[in-house]
Amino acid sequence: IQSKLPGVGTTIFSVMSKLAETHKAINLSQGFPDYNCDDKLISMVNDAMKDGFNQYAPMPGLLSLRELIAEKAEFLYGANYHPDTEVTITAGGTQAIFTALSSCINAGDEVIIFEPAYDCYAPAVKLLGGLVKPYELNPPDYEIDWEMVKKLFTANTKMIILNSPQNPTGCILSEKDIKALIKLTKNTDVLILSDEVYEHIIFDGKKHHSIALYPELRERSFIIASFGKLLHTTGWKMGYCLAPENLMKEFRKVHQFNVFSVNTPMQVGITNYLRNPAVYNELSDFFQEKRDFFRSLLNETRLKPLPCHGSYFQCVSYSHISDEKDTDMAARMIKEYGVAGIPVSAFHIRSTDHKILRFCFAKKQETLEKAVERLMQL
Ligand code: GLN
Repeated sequence: IQSKLPGVGTTIFSVMSKLAETHKAINLSQGFPDYNCDDKLISMVNDAMKDGFNQYAPMPGLLSLRELIAEKAEFLYGANYHPDTEVTITAGGTQAIFTALSSCINAGDEVIIFEPAYDCYAPAVKLLGGLVKPYELNPPDYEIDWEMVKKLFTANTKMIILNSPQNPTGCILSEKDIKALIKLTKNTDVLILSDEVYEHIIFDGKKHHSIALYPELRERSFIIASFGKLLHTTGWKMGYCLAPENLMKEFRKVHQFNVFSVNTPMQVGITNYLRNPAVYNELSDFFQEKRDFFRSLLNETRLKPLPCHGSYFQCVSYSHISDEKDTDMAARMIKEYGVAGIPVSAFHIRSTDHKILRFCFAKKQETLEKAVERLMQL
């Protein structure tokens, strides 16, 4: 058949995890914890199964979970999302992103994406016949010049995709960025897809500027969240989407014929577990300790850690060590040193290689220690 996505191969996360496995390397590539989630959460899901919550959930998700999410959005961001019509539980962040895009992108629509970008955005836009308009962010700070973003706007601009804290850079949007975005999109009907899956992993006392905080943006935005990141359960593939009623109506038209609904016992378990707000209040501290530990170890190597303000990813630059392509460097690191990372060029829409690798630090202390011990040989 004629490929609908020529030029798209297997996602880098599968490629690198497999390579890590083959070479028995320490896998700091794909982002997932190497420790278990809370026993209490597991019991709650188990109880839900025993209690008979084993059939279809309502299409948009369990109402009690949607209510809890709406309460959280109100409490943290002062945003009123109606649990009935403006919150939908999804099979993870990626499905929510794909569904949101499918519900509104038509052939010829232009979508602005900041690169390096998480790798699922551009293929989804292309599959829908949309046109990707990349805006390149540059290391080490990956700052956005909004005057330059403005130049990308045309009559066909349908959407702008945001991701803060950002994967892979660990950068975050500031209030200044949001104000510039408000100004730029005022009196337009440009939609926003705000991927906020790392919303609760933000460091040094910095604040997460959720789009939900800003009514003038919220009314045109899909906000994506992930229980995998919040609960250390990436394999459960659970997330959700927040959007105003008119957008959510379209989102659900797609969702119902895509996954229909998301697994029930986990929704019940998560609902009971999330009644304790410490779950999201303590996550930043938990990961900041890991980030600080990992960075202090990395400082003993020849690699240069870049700034990391949020997410569980730490980027390192190696341009002063080697001029190898980042894909070659990542492969060699696995084979010769036994440590897997992600070459950041995989996140670039146009081919760009700043000689940066991304490591995931959602790992046990001993895993990080062992990995860095090996990286000392570099
Ligand atoms: N979000 C994870 C990462 O950035 C990967 C998810 C996936 O493998 N699809 O590493």
